[in-house]
This record gives sequence, C-alpha cells and structure tokens, in this order.
Amino acid sequence: MTLTSKTAIVTGSTSGIGLCVARALAREGANVVLNGFGEAAAIEAARAGIESAFGVKAHYAAADMTRPGEIADMVRDAEERFGTVDVLVNNAGIQFVSAIEDFPGETWERVLAINLSSAFYAMQAAIPGMKARGWGRIISTASAHSLVASPYKSAYVAAKHGIVGLTKTAALELATHGITVNCISPGYVWTSLVEAQIPDTMKARGLTKQQVIDDVLLKAQPTKAFVTVDQVAALALFLCSDAASQITGTNISMDGGWTAQ
Ligand code: NAD
Repeated sequence: MTLTSKTAIVTGSTSGIGLCVARALAREGANVVLNGFGEAAAIEAARAGIESAFGVKAHYAAADMTRPGEIADMVRDAEERFGTVDVLVNNAGIQFVSAIEDFPGETWERVLAINLSSAFYAMQAAIPGMKARGWGRIISTASAHSLVASPYKSAYVAAKHGIVGLTKTAALELATHGITVNCISPGYVWTSLVEAQIPDTMKARGLTKQQVIDDVLLKAQPTKAFVTVDQVAALALFLCSDAASQITGTNISMDGGWTAQ
C-alpha cells in the first residue's frame, strides 16, 4: 500500500498515539499535518524528523480543538498547502476524573469539545474535498470507554460513546463516495500519559510500580499487557488500505479482551 501524493491530518499528534499514527502514514508516503500542544522545540523536532526520515512534507498546525473556526482553518490550510486532505484521523483527547456531582461544567464542555465535537468540525471541513475526489479515510481514536464505562469518567465515556454514533452516521452518509469512516478503540496504551500516572498512584495507594500496572491500570485488560502505539498505528494504516475499503461504520477494539468481559 502506498499513500504517496495523499495528505493526512492527525489531530492531537504532538505525542503518544497520534504522533505514531502520523509517522506511520508518512512512512507510507503521505504528507502529514501534525496538530496538538507541547513545547515548540519538541514539536519542530517531530515535524522535521518526519520530513527527513520519510521524504514527505510535514506541517504543524496549532489549531485548538476546542475552537471550530481554527479546526476549519487547519483543514483549509492543508488543502491549500498540499492540494488535498485524504485521511483525517480524529485523535486529540483529554481525560478528567471526578464524580458527576463534583464535575465542573466547563470541564465537561471542554472534554466534549476536544474528544467529540472537534471530530464533527474536522469532518465537516474535510468531507467536501474527499467527496469531490471520491476517496477518503476518516478514523477516530475512540477507546474501550466507547463501549463500557468506568466510574468518575462521565465526560470521557460520553464523548467516546458519542464518537461511535458520529462515525456510524458519517459512514452511512458517505458510503457511496469511496470514503470510509471508522473508530479504533484501544484499551490501555503505553504512552507518556499513562506512564506519568504511575508515581502518583504508587504514592496515593502505597503500591509498587508493578502493582499499579497489574492491579490498577491493567485490572480490566485480560491480557495484562498494554496495547502499543505501533499496534494502533498499524490498524490505522490498514484502515487506509484498499483491503479495508468495505470496512466502514465500525468500531474496532484493540483492548486485550477488556470489552469481551
Ligand atoms: P496524549 O496526551 O499523548 O495525546 C493527546 C494529544 O491531544 C496531544 O497531542 C495533545 O497535545 C492533544 N490535545 C489535547 N488538547 C488539545 C486541544 N485542545 N487541541 C489540540 N490538541 C489537543 O495521549 P494519547 O494516549 O496518545 O491519546 C490519544 C487519543 O487516544 C485520545 O483521544 C485518547 O482518548 C485515546 N486513547 C488513549 C488511550 C491510552 O491508554 N493512552 C486509550 C484509549 C484511547
């Protein structure tokens, strides 16, 4: 498979899953638009690293996924810069943990905006070009929390369930246009986000690192192993291939058996 002469936008790709997906798409020849927050020098290193490693063009868009106007501008700018937007990966996401009665309303709105509404606005901007060319791939990083809940994660769980509904609807609307729309739903993925939680959890619960991994993080994951960012990226790449052209409107779990329980 090659994505040469195609362009991919990956939201939330300055770290973790998104950066790995962007690199995988670039490895197959796609020009990529990176997006997300972080230290300017690290973002520039990631951008330049993609260009030098894979011989494609990589652009960084600073669009804030809570702002519909910035999302639309990011898509328009990518089309002007590279000619097309063929692959859209809605990946930006944040988490917030609180009981519903204490959950700040503005934080609920923020989680919904970044994890769900941003995908709607990015699709809205990218779909006309994909339709005009008769080809497109829209992939959203959902979560095992698109299928099951955990306490204290109301906004995240609601947003991730919501993105599955948005995905199904878009898939039906676009079914005859050569555009597929799917979710990938990982369980716990080993990213810096997850790793960073370990010291605090060790301290708070008086546990060893291994106990935190086995009894807290991987409690619900029967394989007792983390999903890797490379595995998520490999699935995203497969969804971009011709072999996946009849996979649409679905939510593919990659969660070590979590949601089989
Ligand atoms: P991460 O924190 O490494 O990546 C999140 C990305 O989103 C970063 O690039 C960050 O800068 C960006 N972002 C946050 N707020 C933004 C905003 N307002 N505008 C633009 N970008 C913004 O985390 P990750 O683990 O790689 O998560 C990526 C996605 O995968 C998220 O949607 C997350 O819900 C999902 N996911 C992660 C796991 C896991 O265990 N790590 C499991 C299931 C699903």
